[in-house]
Amino acid sequence: MSMAGSSLSQASHPLVSLRDVEKTFANGVTALSGFDLDILQGELISLLGPSGCGKSTILRLIAGLSEPTSGSVVWADDTQSDHRSEIGYVFQDPTLMPWANVADNVWFPLRLRGISRREATRRIDDILSMVGLTGFAKAYPRELSGGMRMRVSIARALSLRPKLLLMDEPFAALDEITRFKLNDDLLRLKHELDCTIVFVTHSVYESVYLSDRIAVMTPRPGHAVATLAIDAPRERGTNYRSSAAYAKRCGQVSDVLARATTMTRASA
Ligand code: ADP
Repeated sequence: MSMAGSSLSQASHPLVSLRDVEKTFANGVTALSGFDLDILQGELISLLGPSGCGKSTILRLIAGLSEPTSGSVVWADDTQSDHRSEIGYVFQDPTLMPWANVADNVWFPLRLRGISRREATRRIDDILSMVGLTGFAKAYPRELSGGMRMRVSIARALSLRPKLLLMDEPFAALDEITRFKLNDDLLRLKHELDCTIVFVTHSVYESVYLSDRIAVMTPRPGHAVATLAIDAPRERGTNYRSSAAYAKRCGQVSDVLARATTMTRASA
């Protein structure tokens, strides 16, 4: 692990950058202050910090669902004014339509873009196969486990082939075995789809396992106190989880997080 950029960060260009962002809500709560971060093309970057430090707010700002009070969110490709079609969003709650089957849930974003169910069939089948749900197209959300519902939610977010996937604690409510499996599948999917992922978590272990880089945040008003490059092997899995190298990286990131959680904007 290094505090400077990894080979990925040296080779990659920013996809989107947050510059000196402040976000103060109408009730006077300042969630973010002086927040700077480059999201690099092709990386999986975790936002790691205590509850309430502004992680979800950052995702909403990147997605254009909210505007910064000051500072800016800048896309490297500024030829488009609206980047929403390039973004997939996955929440902790899968938010599936209970009355629609799996295939129709995945179709939903395509339908909003005027793509008929028939035209979408091939794409839906491909995505369901990628997320390990072949054979479940006609199942209803109530018939699925929590992990499978999350797979549908990920499939739906991928249906428009986004450049950037924003994931807000997607696995936090799942049991550990399911979470580990989904962690591995997410890394495989990212490789297959060649997308960029911003992953919100408050788990050191999950962030170290998944990430190319981790932005460690202070408590509210949050800012990134350190951006850590995690030079883990591309092939992870059970052996990596139980390795000394993984434990050491987790220990180092825990130390940085512990220091960050005692910082205020003034002491940083
Ligand atoms: P995290 O994702 O790190 O848990 P959030 O980004 O959800 O943190 O929230 C950061 C802070 O901003 C919290 O104190 C939260 O209560 C506050 N907050 C979030 N959204 C709003 C809102 N729409 N109006 C007022 N306060 C908000």
